[in-house]
Amino acid sequence: MNEAREKYVSLDVEKKKSALGSVGKFLGLIVGGTGILIGAILCITIIGILFGLPLMIASMGLILSVQGYQMISCPTCNKKQKVLQSKENLDCVKCRQFTVINWK
Ligand SMILES: [Zn+2]
Repeated sequence: MNEAREKYVSLDVEKKKSALGSVGKFLGLIVGGTGILIGAILCITIIGILFGLPLMIASMGLILSVQGYQMISCPTCNKKQKVLQSKENLDCVKCRQFTVINWK
């Protein structure tokens, strides 16, 4: 028998409006993408790794931050974690609780 998947919890979450508009998001992606590219090129030239690696990490952080991440507490264990606002569910890293997110 193929039973329904394991028990899950649903959670209502108020979606936080990003301070950035769509233009800000777009710029963030461009700047972040360019940064990763330059960082990758620097990393190829061994010596450039010193600058390239931090640049790539910072650029990835920038891209992630403009994607609309939000901190959500797990309803079961209260562990706070970053969740992309386009995500439909949350698989808790701590207690493995599967939570369905109802964005509002
Ligand atoms: Zn949890």
